[in-house]
Amino acid sequence: MRLNRVVAACLLSLTTLAAQAAEGPITAIRAARLIDGLGSSPIRDAVVIIDGERIVAAGSRLAIPAGATVIDLGDATLLPGFIDCHTHITGEPGDYYKSFVRDSHIDDAVRAHIYAARTLQAGFTTIRNLGAGEFVDIALRRAIDEGVVSGPRIVAAGHGIGATGGHADDGVGASPYIALQGFSGVADGVEAVRLKVREQVKYGADVIKMVATAGVLSEEDSVGAPQYTQAEMDALVDEAHRWDRKVAAHAHGAEGIKMAIRAGVDSIEHGSFIDDEGIAMMKARGTYLVADIYNDDYILAEFGKLNYPQKIIDKERLVGRVQRENFRKAVRAGVKIAYGTDAGVYPHGGNGRQFAKHVEWGQTPMQAIVAATSSAATLLGRDKDIGAVAAGRFADLVAVSGDPLADITLLERPGFVMKGGVTVRRDAQPLASR
Ligand SMILES: [Zn+2]
Repeated sequence: MRLNRVVAACLLSLTTLAAQAAEGPITAIRAARLIDGLGSSPIRDAVVIIDGERIVAAGSRLAIPAGATVIDLGDATLLPGFIDCHTHITGEPGDYYKSFVRDSHIDDAVRAHIYAARTLQAGFTTIRNLGAGEFVDIALRRAIDEGVVSGPRIVAAGHGIGATGGHADDGVGASPYIALQGFSGVADGVEAVRLKVREQVKYGADVIKMVATAGVLSEEDSVGAPQYTQAEMDALVDEAHRWDRKVAAHAHGAEGIKMAIRAGVDSIEHGSFIDDEGIAMMKARGTYLVADIYNDDYILAEFGKLNYPQKIIDKERLVGRVQRENFRKAVRAGVKIAYGTDAGVYPHGGNGRQFAKHVEWGQTPMQAIVAATSSAATLLGRDKDIGAVAAGRFADLVAVSGDPLADITLLERPGFVMKGGVTVRRDAQPLASR
């Protein structure tokens, strides 16, 4: 009797599963070429079969199931949705003093959904947001996950954690009589740093951002000086890993980079003044480099017009060229590279412009694509779900007209974007022609 009930229950759940499988909307996408994001050679006459929000099969000339909705993209290349591992989705460049004095994080929250939509339209179906005020990135992530707002999947950090007077301290450069209110990522000393990690986790952070050194776009003096002691960095990383959160370290200077690597961070962001020893350490430990090697062009062209202090522009001039040369050294040495642009320093939606820089500074077009797909997904710990056109992963897809291995800048202009099986962009031209 009891056994029968179990068998009956099993049969019931099998039938339910079969019914669900049969009822799921099946979509088949055809394109002249497919780049899977894992580094394999492109596939010709590609077919990707999608059931609901996930890919069930991808290959050349696959049979299309009866009743499937067919999307024929013609002479296009299909790729996994891109991943930007370093964004600030809640802000955009604007007048320095206006944003400092008049705007608050409420203004950011009102506008952030526009940046999210633009990012998704550019083919970036996932971003890792490394620092936002008042947990706005986490609220945005929730709204996107609930389908209220259109945007990429967000791996959010909450506040970047750093020292008083450092790059994460919004009050640097202000009169001591201007008291900033609200949450902050500022923490000093081992215990406070641990508490600050716990606070980010408590309010929904998926990843922890540590400000290991000084920065460029802030008013403290140096660019690269370490801003935490080794003990503070060790404690921060230990605490984050205990809560199963990875750590991304903002680090420009050679010494601060090495301290962060020693502490066990998962990625070095910027990495501008990394030296040979630092490169060797990253290679040995498998630490990822996320280098924002596009935005220098934008900053030097535009920030003077936005009333940024001369000190900041001078710092950028000092960093930009060296950072790109060191990126090339790291690529040659075989350091793991993940794509991250610091979007928000330049307007959101231009995230794809960094692909050409990866190629200009040492990667092959295929390596640049892998940096923004499977490599980025592994850094995020999301490689079961995103980063490749492969069975079982989310149907997060991008298509560009023509062959991006011949012209990498095609990736700046996707004509088709799908997220989780839902088409969010499909241009009539030029993808319809074959
Ligand atoms: Zn940043």
